[in-house]
Amino acid sequence: MNKEELEKVKKKALDEHIPIIMDDTLTVIQEKLKNTKVDNLLEIGTAVGYSAMCFTEFLSKDGKIDTIERDIEKIQEARINVKKVEVEDKINIIEGDAVEVLPTLNNKYDVIFIDAAKGKYPFFLKEALRMIKTHGIIFADNILYKGYVMSDYNKHKQRTAVRNLREYIKEIMENEDLETEILEVGDGLAISKKIK
Ligand code: SAH
Ligand code: MG
Repeated sequence: MNKEELEKVKKKALDEHIPIIMDDTLTVIQEKLKNTKVDNLLEIGTAVGYSAMCFTEFLSKDGKIDTIERDIEKIQEARINVKKVEVEDKINIIEGDAVEVLPTLNNKYDVIFIDAAKGKYPFFLKEALRMIKTHGIIFADNILYKGYVMSDYNKHKQRTAVRNLREYIKEIMENEDLETEILEVGDGLAISKKIK
């Protein structure tokens, strides 16, 4: 991988206020995956490909990433970026709305990273649970949404997002097949390991 090009992608994304994964969130995920063999990783929300490109470092030798994005301009930029960073053979960008794409997928994944429309997190979880391998890990970014999720905040246009993020948290906490922790890194990160 070409790290210099990756740094350029990061800088441009930050300049353009694209909500790419935060450094501390990435560090936590890296720690978690250190001792995991990652052959298949699914990402929901590619944006310009930054996090997916970072995740290629956690893959096993022939490991692959599937990543879903619906915004056509972001997809085009992501395609250019994965070539520049020389990881295009490891990243498969799937075009379309994840709500429609996910039900068509039937792979098993070691890792699933949820990082797209917050109002759809409960649906993404349902699909992730169908495709995660036993001992696999589901990460959900932005789960605390600027602190709104854990406050009594509910009079706002982000109401639906907040309600759905709370529902996501409730479901992962109650699911006995999962071992879950929620960390206040970045914008909040939920980590759910499938233990059975
Ligand atoms: N994972 C990226 C950042 C993703 S930002 C990184 O860390 O580098 C969230 C992205 O999800 C946006 O580009 C947005 O267009 C996309 N998105 C939101 N809802 C989606 C959906 N339902 N289906 C597909 N993509 C979606
Ligand atoms: Mg995010």
